[in-house]
Amino acid sequence: MAQNSKINPLKDKRNLSQQTLAVHGGTNRSKYGETSESLFINSGFTYENSLIAQKRFAGEEDGYIYSRFSNPTVNMFEERMALIEGAEAARATASGMAAVSLALMSQLRAGDHLVAGRALFGSCRYIIEEYLPRWGISSTLVDGVKAENFAAAIRPNSKVIFIESPTNPTLELVDIEKVAKIAHENGAILIVDNVFASSILQKPLKLGADLVVYSATKHIDGQGRALGGIILGDKTIIEGDIHNFLRQTGPSISPFNAWIMLKGLETLELRVNKMSKNAKKIAKFLAKHKKIKRVFYPLHKSHPQYELAKKQMKKGSSIVSFEVKGDQQTAFKLADNLAIILISNNLGDAKSIISHPATTTHQRFSEKEQLEMGIKPSLLRLSVGLENVDDLIRDLNFALEQI
Ligand SMILES: *Cc1c(COP(=O)(O)O)cnc(C)c1O
Repeated sequence: MAQNSKINPLKDKRNLSQQTLAVHGGTNRSKYGETSESLFINSGFTYENSLIAQKRFAGEEDGYIYSRFSNPTVNMFEERMALIEGAEAARATASGMAAVSLALMSQLRAGDHLVAGRALFGSCRYIIEEYLPRWGISSTLVDGVKAENFAAAIRPNSKVIFIESPTNPTLELVDIEKVAKIAHENGAILIVDNVFASSILQKPLKLGADLVVYSATKHIDGQGRALGGIILGDKTIIEGDIHNFLRQTGPSISPFNAWIMLKGLETLELRVNKMSKNAKKIAKFLAKHKKIKRVFYPLHKSHPQYELAKKQMKKGSSIVSFEVKGDQQTAFKLADNLAIILISNNLGDAKSIISHPATTTHQRFSEKEQLEMGIKPSLLRLSVGLENVDDLIRDLNFALEQI
């Protein structure tokens, strides 16, 4: 090195902003110098000699062993996502549900107790209510709107608090900072399912959470192409319990899907911000419409937790839920009269999507349980996409005129 040549400080990733990290973070170029991240679609790896193989298995030498638990493309996705999230470490999984079950099962054992918000994504609640008891893990579900409810439900053997915020589908918020404090005061960890807000709008780890989980299927891919999931957080937990559970049980993401997610991350911020901007405008439109009974949107003034939304989220997210004046039939009629907005249960997609929670994602719950979660027959959940927002409003307006 020449005597007075300086090292560009931007070579240190800690000096880069989220936007730059989303494009360059985690890139591990092969000897061919490809611009786009390369796709290592292999299951196994070879070793130059037997001693190297022995050392790799003993963890005495870095290097790949088997794609069930380590693969260069998957690692690029994990590292880029960790940089965006501001997490120490990450492990990717085959789906969002693989991430949730891996996070819970690696942290809980027979005799433990879990506290969770009761308004959860359907399969998350299913795991807690139907599977955890089979392994001797009990749980208490609470109304997560009041943080005190978590403190009241916690027991000496509570090891995990699990929450979603905003919740699906009624977009209630949980005060992440307060609940993290309650967890830590009682020797438990806090796991946050951050799918609805995405890493762009909310950073649970900064608010005190220990682990954050995502369905990468949603905003991270955001183009309806692939399933995936990821768990991020504390290095000791991720590289210890989480890594080992993934390694031994195998809910691994395919390298191809990880590659799709990597490319998704490059445009995640652009998409989430645009979708949220569209969603905010739609929430405003719906709130004023005479055939709408109620709108649920974190950054709409009518939201009972508007102040908390402003505190812990950068924007209101891409999801708007609303009740029509009428019943299930009215809600169906509205959805059936849309031309651009698709009827589907996915969310966070470039394409706008509407769903009727009571008869689809939350069908298995009794009417009483549905009402406890705020799911009425007249409720629709709209995931706002990247289309021209005025076209979307015209689409909704036409359908509303038909009911
Ligand atoms: C979709 C979703 C999941 C599950 O993710 P998959 O990728 O479909 O397995 C979990 N939590 C929330 C909040 C979701 O929206």
